[in-house]
Amino acid sequence: MSNTISRKDFLVRAGSALAVSAIGFPSIILPQNNEKLGVALVGLGYYSTNILAPGLQQTEHCELRGIVTGSPEKIPVWQEKYGIPDASVYNYETMHEIANNDDIDVVYIVLPNNMHAEYSIIGANAGKHVWCEKPMAMNVEECRAMIDATEKNGVQLTIGYRMQHEPNTQTIIKYGEEETYGRITAIRSGGGFRANHEPDNWRAVKEMGGGALYDMGVYPINAARYSSGMEPVAVRAKQWSVREDIYSDCDEYTDFDLEFPNGLTMEGKCSFGNGMNYLDIDCSDGWYRLRPFLSYSGVRGATSDGTILAPDPGHQQARQMDNDALAIKNGTNPTAPGEEGLRDVRIVQAIMDSSRLDGQWMQL
Ligand code: NAD
Repeated sequence: MSNTISRKDFLVRAGSALAVSAIGFPSIILPQNNEKLGVALVGLGYYSTNILAPGLQQTEHCELRGIVTGSPEKIPVWQEKYGIPDASVYNYETMHEIANNDDIDVVYIVLPNNMHAEYSIIGANAGKHVWCEKPMAMNVEECRAMIDATEKNGVQLTIGYRMQHEPNTQTIIKYGEEETYGRITAIRSGGGFRANHEPDNWRAVKEMGGGALYDMGVYPINAARYSSGMEPVAVRAKQWSVREDIYSDCDEYTDFDLEFPNGLTMEGKCSFGNGMNYLDIDCSDGWYRLRPFLSYSGVRGATSDGTILAPDPGHQQARQMDNDALAIKNGTNPTAPGEEGLRDVRIVQAIMDSSRLDGQWMQL
């Protein structure tokens, strides 16, 4: 080996410095706290290109160092724009070789939903921490396989639930915990937009995890869980499509009701047919709401006593990735671990089952 030390050795040595500093040199600079984690984006579609890569230019605790892509024409563009060396460029067949790349600490899976499990597991088996986009996977079995792979390899698995890192969302989570406006009596939440996918786009293809429920439904489902702090016990749902020429294979619309153990109910909606973006919470002593509640920016809130929750100006995904990087560096639990994604996917599956059974209540 050359006279440079690898990043792993550096982190180990830095760890020893930390041990010394804790004993006798409190003012010593702790290099591992300044060391950014290297992130490889896996899948260079819309979200990686327009949101995550720019976000990684603003992060303090991690940075973009690698790419995994099946589109050769994208490679020079990304290399030039972000200074990515040849040694950190992979395709889906060579991705496992990332195991030998000390510059990469995290793989961030930003692929069509049916590819999340396979590539998360390849990343985990390569010894890399895994960040995976929502929805975590197609079904609970895939989610469990992802959790098992990351546990076996001693790496973290984190789901890209950006709202859980958003300040106004965190404020309303606290309202729920502290019963600031009393006991929650009803939750209503919907997420949707007027989509115009080509019929062969993966978001319109059932086997690839297409449909409004996988894409948008996880937002109101996750919101019901984080705002109430409870797990639902039953669900009923209806799924349908109006534009059968595009969404013949999967849902354009899903309506669902969740029931919680204390009798609380949540009315959820998601859609590829029309825009909706609200999280409304009624309580015994008032109400609060976030509108919009799932946008990349501009999430704002209002409450029954006139409190305004003004939008946070920061880059939402940069905050999410920094929090997730800090959890890895500090060895603490991430905000949204794999189990969090699994719980939502279990509800997604029950919603699809209920719809097939004409809206029958399904126990969770
Ligand atoms: P996209 O269609 O723009 O990109 C998908 C990428 O996967 C493309 O680069 C494509 O080339 C690649 N790919 C590899 N194999 C493919 C195959 N067999 N078929 C189709 N594409 C293939 O999608 P996107 O909007 O970037 O979404 C990617 C993931 O990120 C999804 O899981 C989505 O739910 C998630 N996402 C999350 C958010 C969020 O706010 N958290 C926002 C957008 C997307």
